[in-house]
Amino acid sequence: MTNKTTYSDTLSQSSEFLRLAIALLAKHKIPADPHNYQVTYECVSGRNQALVEALSQLLKQNPNPSDEQLEALYQSYFVQDEAALEMMRTEIRRIIHCMLKDFSHSDDQLSHYSQTLNQFVTILDTQKPPEHLLTSTQKVIEETRSVEQSQQHIEKQMNNVIAEIDLLRKELEQVKEESKMDALTGIANRKAFDLEIDATILAARNSREPFSLLMLDIDHFKLFNDTYGHLVGDKVLRYVATLLKRNIKGRDFVARFGGEEFMIILPATNINGAMVISEQIREAISSGTLTAKDNDVSYGKLTLSIGVTQFRASDLSEVLINRADKALYLAKERGRNRVEKL
Ligand code: GH3
Ligand code: MG
Ligand code: MG
Repeated sequence: MTNKTTYSDTLSQSSEFLRLAIALLAKHKIPADPHNYQVTYECVSGRNQALVEALSQLLKQNPNPSDEQLEALYQSYFVQDEAALEMMRTEIRRIIHCMLKDFSHSDDQLSHYSQTLNQFVTILDTQKPPEHLLTSTQKVIEETRSVEQSQQHIEKQMNNVIAEIDLLRKELEQVKEESKMDALTGIANRKAFDLEIDATILAARNSREPFSLLMLDIDHFKLFNDTYGHLVGDKVLRYVATLLKRNIKGRDFVARFGGEEFMIILPATNINGAMVISEQIREAISSGTLTAKDNDVSYGKLTLSIGVTQFRASDLSEVLINRADKALYLAKERGRNRVEKL
């Protein structure tokens, strides 16, 4: 069984996660084998909140977890989806196999039944004595009942197959959706963004309608993590994602591009419109203060910088993204908590 998790972290992000993962492994004397490394990498990168909670629960119970406990964690978070799908496939295969057997039995039964009916017609045609006719009638009635029962059984089996296949379809749809969702923030991930930007470029080439791209990056987030810890950092990422979603509408598309970087695609919006929306977002983030829900501790102000650009007819997606990135770099260079366009 293969593990299909894909990663799109940049070199600097993955180096940072590597450092954090190794520190976590060393602290709990966990061997850095590929499975354990994947578990800790996934946790420190914050992409899988359920796994973060499961690991911290395990470490709370047992600061030096056993190989079996760690392997169980790996199995349940990295191979379970596939195992569940495989189980469903096996079940459908089993039901279809049974049904095919029933079909072939029913085939024999039906040909026997049609023989009986033919014989019965012959008997009706020939003037046989009434006793003979009565016996034949009873035989036909019995066989008809038995055929009816088999057909009902087959119908039930067919309904089972339909239900199982429908369940598999739903499961597959969910897996497909999850593969496009960022596990930490619940918004679209890098893969979904890549698909969306290509589709938007294609649509804009046909319609000749303008559209704009915003690249957003939280200011001094490393310092924030270093000061308050990675888990608080994760909460902030979820908060920012929620706020971004709240500040866009309709066909606008927001995604987590990686680490503390987000992308927003604004269809049917030129650079002036995109600047107005960017300012609103910048203002919404910087005007709030972050406080811990449980103890009211203040984490101070959070700001982000935004690079804005409008699609140009000849742009390939890399060119467009690069220009948004350069605009973002300008916003950082000119003091952060700013919006710049290119
Ligand atoms: P700048 O204002 O120049 O953007 O500074 P910065 O500190 O935000 O940028 P830098 O690229 O140096 O650091 C980004 C940090 O984001 C590093 C990493 O610890 C943090 N980070 C990335 N992904 C996650 C995540 O999933 N969860 C948490 N908590 N932190 C993350
Ligand atoms: Mg960054
Ligand atoms: Mg940053």
